[in-house]
Amino acid sequence: MPTAKNFFTEAEQKMLVQAIAKAEEHTSGEIRLHIENFCPGNELTRAKKVFTALKMDATSERNGVLIYIATLSHKIAVIGDEGIHQKVQAEFWNTLVKDLIKKFKEGRKAEALSECIIECGAQLGKYFPRKNEDKDELSNTISY
Ligand code: CA
Ligand code: CA
Repeated sequence: MPTAKNFFTEAEQKMLVQAIAKAEEHTSGEIRLHIENFCPGNELTRAKKVFTALKMDATSERNGVLIYIATLSHKIAVIGDEGIHQKVQAEFWNTLVKDLIKKFKEGRKAEALSECIIECGAQLGKYFPRKNEDKDELSNTISY
């Protein structure tokens, strides 16, 4: 299993950042992707810590979504801030993670992530449509 930094090729990283920008075109929600090598302990607990560290809880509508991957620990979590979490069922996040794991095993990592990002954008768009004065509240770049 590759480490966080080379989990995706440069071209794939570009594609993923573009997928985030595209997903945010129709929503005020903000999506971020965080990749690291090891996840100490539970992936949800860790994802929540990263979420706060990235100041993702500071969006005006509390609609940030974090996709968290620990490459060497083989752990994935997708979590949303309270605004979006109240709107979707817990099952939504679980389904996204299951789907990611399945496609990762098939070797379709970048494609899986792109689809996950687009799906998050679609779901966010339902509840948090983009406004005219939309700001990119959180960077679209991948964080490590
Ligand atoms: Ca925005
Ligand atoms: Ca953004």
